[in-house]
Amino acid sequence: ETTIIDYGTKIKKDSLAYNLHSWSAQGGLNPKVITKAEGIYFWDADGKKYFDMSSQLVNMNIGHGHRKVVDAIKEQAEKMAFMGPAYAFDVKSEAARKIVEVAPDNMGKVFFTNAGAEANENAIKIARMFTGKYKIFSRYRSYHGASYGAANLTGEKRRFPSEPGIPGFVKFFDPYLYRAPIPFKDEKEATKYYITQLREQIIFEGPDKVAAIFLETVTGSNGIIIPPEGYLKGIRDLCDEFNIVMVCDEVMAGWGRTGEWFAVNHWDVNPDLITFAKGATCGYIPLGGVIVSSKIADFFDENTMWCGLTYSGHPIGCATAVATIEVYKEEKLMENSKKVGSVLGKILETLKTKHKCVGDVRYIGLFSGIELVKDKTTKEPLVPHGNDPEKIMKNILGMLSSEGFATYSHDNILIVAPPLTITEDELKEAMEIMDKVLDYVDNMISV
Ligand code: PLP
Repeated sequence: ETTIIDYGTKIKKDSLAYNLHSWSAQGGLNPKVITKAEGIYFWDADGKKYFDMSSQLVNMNIGHGHRKVVDAIKEQAEKMAFMGPAYAFDVKSEAARKIVEVAPDNMGKVFFTNAGAEANENAIKIARMFTGKYKIFSRYRSYHGASYGAANLTGEKRRFPSEPGIPGFVKFFDPYLYRAPIPFKDEKEATKYYITQLREQIIFEGPDKVAAIFLETVTGSNGIIIPPEGYLKGIRDLCDEFNIVMVCDEVMAGWGRTGEWFAVNHWDVNPDLITFAKGATCGYIPLGGVIVSSKIADFFDENTMWCGLTYSGHPIGCATAVATIEVYKEEKLMENSKKVGSVLGKILETLKTKHKCVGDVRYIGLFSGIELVKDKTTKEPLVPHGNDPEKIMKNILGMLSSEGFATYSHDNILIVAPPLTITEDELKEAMEIMDKVLDYVDNMISV
């Protein structure tokens, strides 16, 4: 046992000495050393077991260590680890065909990238080439990736290091109804307000200059914001009216997370481009891409598509996607996401009724957020936007983790998004930990 602990200590020491960790000041970090991961669990170097209640970065939809996917990777590595993007080969054709088959009906072709940010970078270029226009609209409560273009699409503060931004990138406000500045009678009224306001903004920016509107179909990192009734249809209509490309960023919301292959399926709307990554290969190997409508694909029959990457359509990435898509089908993970997701929804509603620190719960499939407040009536957030000097959220996450519930947060919102393979019983067991920790938060806000 001593040896295992020494081993963990050495790994942590080297990690702090040599790794730069994302989105953090490096001093004072204390990363957990992880030695094993299986299914919905992972273990640290002390042998402690955790429920992976965020599926890592909401990407491990099929859970850890899936045999079928591991074997597909081994097999492809043996057969042909790499072939350049100019060539056709079995798994690249098959992965694209399988993706188009599960995408909305109007979709035609796929351009593969390495991950989500690159998918959005290429979607920006495709929209500009297709329309001949340059302005790009996206929302404030959004995260679209950390590379330069994707960071400029991003609305939240992770965009700031990439500023001054790219000219022509315009932000608009999200339909975040829980904190809407004016009370709306219902979702339809809210939709009318947000769509009318956006239409006016497009007119003021010049519709002949606007190439694309990007949105996370269901906003993920920024707190699980689900579009109100008619909203996506409203965006579609604006895009049709002004010849603007509608881009759904499904990097996080796609691949069964919401109970459908793509979140947009819930609202029966056909976007022009869908960007994806995460759940396409569930992290076994990085892969992302842009799914392009047949209409846009046809445009590139005559016009050069100025996009390319050494690793576009990487054989091992594509083999992984083929196996992962088969796992989704064989294990009926869309269905499980819906079924266990409805249990999750009930549990979250109970937590909201029971705990005075829970202001709002939002959920769709196995994609959910718990919004913590100091006071349910005033909705004052437990910590202000972008600022938690007392490390209150970190402390709450630490308590969850010490009870074996691993996840992350954004501002005052806890993310709950377990692998789609989770059973009802496992979910209930994990959510009891959440219930206990929320008791503690209730006490904390009472004093
Ligand atoms: N888009 C969305 C909606 C995301 O959630 C993320 C990552 O969290 C990205 C894009 C960026 O993807 P990646 O980190 O694979 O570049």
